[in-house]
Amino acid sequence: MASVQGPSSSHLRLFVDKKTNKVVVGEASADFIDALLSFLTLPLGTIIRLLSNKPTHRSSAEVGCINNLYQSVQNFDTEVFWNGICKTMLLCPRNPCEKLCQKLRFNVDDTEPTKYFMCGSCRQGSDEWLSAFSGVSCSCGKLMDQEMKVVEEEDDNPKGGVFVRGESMYLIFDDLTVLQNSACNTIHQLVQLGYSDVTKLTEMSPKVGSKQIMDLLRRALVSTSTLTDVFLNREAAGSQPVSSFTPRLASQNVKKTQSSFNLKITVSKSKNKILFAEAEEDFADFLFSFLTMPLGSTLKLLDGNVNLGSMHNLYKSVKGMNPSWFGRYRSPHSPFSPLLDLKVASQYGCKKQRLDVHEEESPCYYYGTGFYRNNAIYASHNGVISNDWEKIRNASKVELFDPRSADGRKEAVGYVRRPALLAVMDDLQLTPLTSTSSISFLQKLKVPLNDLEEHKVTIHKTEALNLLGASLTSKAALTNGLFYLVKKQKEEPTI
Ligand SMILES: [Zn+2]
Repeated sequence: MASVQGPSSSHLRLFVDKKTNKVVVGEASADFIDALLSFLTLPLGTIIRLLSNKPTHRSSAEVGCINNLYQSVQNFDTEVFWNGICKTMLLCPRNPCEKLCQKLRFNVDDTEPTKYFMCGSCRQGSDEWLSAFSGVSCSCGKLMDQEMKVVEEEDDNPKGGVFVRGESMYLIFDDLTVLQNSACNTIHQLVQLGYSDVTKLTEMSPKVGSKQIMDLLRRALVSTSTLTDVFLNREAAGSQPVSSFTPRLASQNVKKTQSSFNLKITVSKSKNKILFAEAEEDFADFLFSFLTMPLGSTLKLLDGNVNLGSMHNLYKSVKGMNPSWFGRYRSPHSPFSPLLDLKVASQYGCKKQRLDVHEEESPCYYYGTGFYRNNAIYASHNGVISNDWEKIRNASKVELFDPRSADGRKEAVGYVRRPALLAVMDDLQLTPLTSTSSISFLQKLKVPLNDLEEHKVTIHKTEALNLLGASLTSKAALTNGLFYLVKKQKEEPTI
C-alpha cells in the first residue's frame, strides 16, 4: 500500500490466550489508535474504493451491497451526471477530516489532496471564483486551471496525537474497544472477559505498518475479532461476517411538513420481495449521497441499530472517552472530538438526502498576490489563497465554484442531470431508464409480468435510514429496508 505515508512500525503489545489462540488485550501508542479512529472519517465511497482497489490474497470484505451502487456510478456515462466532476466526486469523495488525516502516521485515505484553481484571465477582475476541482470551465470560456498556493496555519506540535492525546498509551481489545490506559480499566475488562491471571497470557509485539492498518480496516467492517484476524492470521479460519440491521418502523404520526420522496416500487408476488424501484433525480441523488457520507456519521445516524463488525466499538470508544484524552484537534466551538460530529465534506452534501447529515460549511477564501511569514513577504507567480485575509498580500474575497449547480455559481442542485429516471435493483445496481429500452429492461428481469405488482411508497427519514442500514448489511437493500411498507399497505383496509 504505497499510498500510506510514514515509517513502518508503531508501538503495539498484544496479550494472547494461547489455548484459544485469540488476542485478549493490547497496549497501543496514540499513532496506532489514531489510525484506527481515522476509519470513522472515511466516506463510504472511499472505503469501497480502498477495499476493491487493493486486492490481496485475503478475501475482500464486502459491506452489504453498497459496492454495487459505487460500481454503477463507475460504469455510468458522464451524461447521467451534471458533469464529469460530479461523477469523480462520487467515486473519490473527500474526507471531511482531510487535513487532520494528513497529519496521521498511517493514513489509509489515499484520495488526492484538495487543490485549488482559478481562471488566469478573470483573476484580476472583480468577479473572482475559486474551484476546488480541476478542469472546471470559467464563465469566460477558459479553464480554471491555475493552481493556487494555499497559505495555512503552521503546525505548532507536529508530533502530538491527532484524534487522541499523543504521549499516552491506550488499551485495545479484540473487538476494537479502546480505553484510556489504566490498571482499573485493565482489571475490569479482563475480569469481564473471564481472565483472572494476566501472567497466563503470552505477550507479542507484532509489526505494524501500512499493510496491517489496511487489513485492520478490511476486517473491522465484518469481524468482531479484528486483532486476532489480522495479527494471528486467523482470518482463514475466521468467523462469518458479523453485520446485521433491523429496520425501524416509522412512528404513526409523521408530520405532514416532513419532507419526503414518493417512490414506485415493483414487487414479485411469488418471491415476496422488491425487484426494483424507479428513482427520479432526487431519489437518485439521495442514494448517491451514501457514498459521500463518512462512516462515523453513518454509525451515529443508525444509532446502534446497525452492527458492522467492530466499527461501532470504535465510535462508542470515542464517545465514552474523557475529553482530556482527545487529541489537540477539537470540533469547532466544542471540547469534543471531531469524530463525534462528522459532517459530509464541504460541497459533497446532498440537499434532499432526508437524513439530516449536514455538509461542512465552506470557510471564506481570500486571494492574494503573496503571503506574509516571519515578517517577510513572499510573492507568488500564480497567486495564493487563504482562509485568513491577514496572512496574504492584496487580499480579496473569492467565491467557491460549486460543480453541482447549473453554472457553478447558482445554488447546488445535485449530482444527477435533470430530469433523470433510474431503475434501482434490490441489490442497488442501477440502470438509467432514460437511455435504456424499458422492454429490454423487463426482458432481463426474466419474471412473468403477471407476477409483478406496483406499489407507491413514501420515504421519510425513518425509511431513508432503513435503506441506508440495509444497504450496508444485506444484498437485498430494498427488500430488507423497505418491504415492510408494502406489507403495511396490504394490511391496511382500503376505503
Ligand atoms: Zn475566466
